[in-house]
Amino acid sequence: MLRNASAILPLVRVAALVKQIPEFEHMKLGADGRLERAGLPLEMSAYDRRAVAKGVELAASSHGHCTVITLGPPSAEDVLREAIAFGADEGVHISDLAFAGSDTLATARALAAAIDLMGPFDLVLVGRNSVDADTGQVGPEIAELLDLPFATGVKQIEVRDGVARVGLELDDEWVDASVKLPAVLSTAERLIDPCKIKDPTVWASVDSARIRRLTAADLGAGPWGQAGSPTRVGETRAEIVDRVGMRPVGTVTEQVARAVEFLKDRGAFLPGATGEFDEQVATSQGDQTLVAVIAEPDRPRLVRELLGGAARLAHQLEGLVAVIGPDVDDVASLASWGADVVFAVPGAEIEEDMAHAVAGWASVHEPAVVVTGSTAWGREVASRVAAAIGAGLTGDAVGLTVEGGRLVAWKPAFGGTMVAAITASSRVQMATVRPGVLPLLHPRGGSVAARHVDRVAPRGRVVVHGRRREDDIDALANAEIVIGVGMGVDPAEYSKLAELQRMLGAELAATRKVTDKGWMPHARQVGITGHAISPRLYLALGTSGKYNHTVGVRSAGTIVAVNPDPDAPVFAFADVGIVGDWREVVAELVRQLGPLVG
Ligand SMILES: Cc1cc2nc3c(=O)[nH]c(=O)nc-3n(C[C@H](O)[C@H](O)[C@H](O)COP(=O)(O)OP(=O)(O)OC[C@H]3O[C@@H](n4cnc5c(N)ncnc54)[C@H](O)[C@@H]3O)c2cc1C
Repeated sequence: MLRNASAILPLVRVAALVKQIPEFEHMKLGADGRLERAGLPLEMSAYDRRAVAKGVELAASSHGHCTVITLGPPSAEDVLREAIAFGADEGVHISDLAFAGSDTLATARALAAAIDLMGPFDLVLVGRNSVDADTGQVGPEIAELLDLPFATGVKQIEVRDGVARVGLELDDEWVDASVKLPAVLSTAERLIDPCKIKDPTVWASVDSARIRRLTAADLGAGPWGQAGSPTRVGETRAEIVDRVGMRPVGTVTEQVARAVEFLKDRGAFLPGATGEFDEQVATSQGDQTLVAVIAEPDRPRLVRELLGGAARLAHQLEGLVAVIGPDVDDVASLASWGADVVFAVPGAEIEEDMAHAVAGWASVHEPAVVVTGSTAWGREVASRVAAAIGAGLTGDAVGLTVEGGRLVAWKPAFGGTMVAAITASSRVQMATVRPGVLPLLHPRGGSVAARHVDRVAPRGRVVVHGRRREDDIDALANAEIVIGVGMGVDPAEYSKLAELQRMLGAELAATRKVTDKGWMPHARQVGITGHAISPRLYLALGTSGKYNHTVGVRSAGTIVAVNPDPDAPVFAFADVGIVGDWREVVAELVRQLGPLVG
């Protein structure tokens, strides 16, 4: 057979990991206030579709092979069939009642065991996260368990000479890196056109012999399922947000006047409060209980939020706050933000090196709680630490509380339609926390922190060649007023938003269609595959209001939507709906708000 031009690649053996999830935009609340999942159509998680497509492409162009692996109930075989029909060589279905109740670590252990059994593989491709649970933990946990390097948000990839050269789309930056193979890589949204075959008759036509079935016994002694899961899901509550649904009538001027009056009455223009340290917290002198913050380099605002949150937890646990990071030289600031003791690990900028340093530190100091941000960096570091020390880890928490002396991390799921109280049964309890959800406390005075230094030698399996910050996640995460821009706003006219933005101190956000066009950076995307934000006021201009976008602003205090189409779905998600052209509405808002906000 003739080898085509791209076949000069070395043979690449790929394992693509997929998860079957409910099509949760169809989910409804039951009479008991819980979400009804039964009977919902099931599908392959969105990012996993890219992992399969890329795996198939890399395998085909290198005469390698692509094995698709899933862990799930009998129905999950459908996603393997879809992947095989798309071009994957074989499927592996891990299915056994013993896996029931698996958290991310137990899932990662089972998948890692299957990869070991079915390998060797050069590349393990995973979705950046599953869109139902959104932890992004399974990939880096597998990497830790198999002692492999990991990179997330892969948007470009070239495999050559045992190295993957990758372009990574992270929270608010673009990173060029090399990753030594074998490796685990997670896919960004636009890596490749997704594997998508909607017709179930095509899935049914796939020969069953191409799917290997594995039970717990095939994978070893475990512990599997709930027994191997250090996290527990407690109380869950649906996040019901009632929108006012006001639809003023009349001319644009009249509609805007009603809207402004409504917003004024609601206090939507008043600045939010910033928290204070509790006096006792500021002088806390506890016993050995440590609440630790892993400090990501070059994210001072996030570190400050986390330290304030940690100080409040430490107060309740009668403990101290430790901060550990490669870049923690400004001890005075760290102390004023809440740190009692500082552990510097210079040289540990790369996630796997940082995780190794934290795991070693944790085994000596045995902190009760370890938290970091749910950025790409924080998710990898925390997942690796959790896998290394067997700690229960909650991903992307939006609140931290203490009950009975134990940490409760509140985690949104299904795009924020519900939140669950997650606890850890392990000695060390871990959580990654969404940027912007913890209040920024006023600096406390007179605090001094002790500093210890332990230099780290990088492993060198991941080499960063360049880093370009396109934006700042903190800006959007912490914005009190956000103007969300959709396809109805021509980028040539963005300058028309400047005056309103200035008056309100607003940040801009965008729909996926807008970021796909490159009109705004990906970091500004709000929605199921973008950010979830909770500003006091969200002004949606020229967005149709598709679920995948609006779910990212469910927690906004007040939503105002502007669209010339009176039937646009966005009005169903808004407190106030103005029917009109955004240009006219913005000009009118500037005119009417002038005397109010200056
Ligand atoms: C797996 C998956 C994940 C996704 N994740 C996300 C996500 O994270 N975030 C996200 O946003 N989307 C996401 N999407 C895409 C989402 O489903 C929608 O396609 C997208 O949000 C629509 O963007 P839009 O509202 O800007 O564009 P459109 O749907 O094209 O709507 C444009 C709107 O502008 C209005 N308009 C036109 N002219 C004017 C004017 N002069 N003044 C005012 N209004 C005007 C129109 O009436 C129309 O309603 C995802 C989709 C999938 C399948």
